[in-house]
Amino acid sequence: MNISRKDFLKKSALGAGIAALSLSSAADASENSELATLIDLRKCIGCEACVYACQEANAHKYPEPAKPFPKMYPERVKVSDWSDKRDVTDRLTPYNWLYIQRTQVEHDGKTIEVCAPRRCMHCQEPPCAHLCPFGAAHKQANGATTIDPDICLGGAKCNAVCPWNIPQRQTGVGPYLDIAPSYMGNGVMYKCDRCVDRLDKGQLPACIEACPEGVQKIGPRDHIADEARRAAKEEGAYIYGLEENGGTNTIYVSAVPFEKMNNAIASGQGNPHMDKVASVMKKSNILASALIIAPFAGAAASLLRIGDKIKKYIGETRNETEKNT
Ligand code: SF4
Ligand code: SF4
Ligand code: SF4
Repeated sequence: MNISRKDFLKKSALGAGIAALSLSSAADASENSELATLIDLRKCIGCEACVYACQEANAHKYPEPAKPFPKMYPERVKVSDWSDKRDVTDRLTPYNWLYIQRTQVEHDGKTIEVCAPRRCMHCQEPPCAHLCPFGAAHKQANGATTIDPDICLGGAKCNAVCPWNIPQRQTGVGPYLDIAPSYMGNGVMYKCDRCVDRLDKGQLPACIEACPEGVQKIGPRDHIADEARRAAKEEGAYIYGLEENGGTNTIYVSAVPFEKMNNAIASGQGNPHMDKVASVMKKSNILASALIIAPFAGAAASLLRIGDKIKKYIGETRNETEKNT
């Protein structure tokens, strides 16, 4: 991520004309802060324009698995295949990184339908990144967490340690096929990368740009947090994400308490909860694991990157040879 927050915010303000707080002043005041998004559930009408915009903008990153899949040993390592279910939009999958979670909540004597765009929370201390044994997941300087598909082996550690089980696996793609296809990993993990390539070009994330109701804003985290606190104080809104897992870069505000929403959600894989979450990385055993993993993960990532370069070089050389013969 090379673009500075100031450049990004100024370009976004000029290019899209979509409100993201008071951009220039926010950028000037917060050059060093991470970017966060504010998702105002009071405005969301559940139209799914954001979902389809995400799919369109990120389709080039989706997996194209080779079939049949290698048989895994031990057999308890499950195949995860969403490649024939690409039109699923009611949960998170490797081909759907954002979905609208719909709940009905009784509050203040009324039944209220809440539509919540759900995706990666982009934690400030992401356990998925700290605990990936191969160094495939990274927190970027702009506050987003991404997974490198050229390094991920699909072991799903990130899913297991994520408090919301966000990353989803697709079998039949990625470097495990070249390393030990039957014995290691089982694909690649996918999730929202907060439109890293669009941000690099100074564009807004596709879901923010497409929303007809202006549900989302993006800006320096301290300004986004202030905006959420102001909504809580002046408008009686409820907040989620400010403190969860030690703080995230996705902050929701809602007209109904998140505890009530959480009770109404049938949460599970691909359907994240809205429960309170203590900081995973503050648990002493987890912190110790992260310290042990870090040097090995760095070395593994370097080796996998080198392996990938060699593979590309061999492929290019073979193509050249074929062309010339
Ligand atoms: S596009 Fe906006 S209003 Fe429509 S579902 Fe997404 S966040 Fe809600
Ligand atoms: S929500 Fe889960 S996948 Fe996203 S950054 Fe946090 S730990 Fe990682
Ligand atoms: S930020 Fe980008 S990748 Fe993430 S949900 Fe929005 S459109 Fe999809």
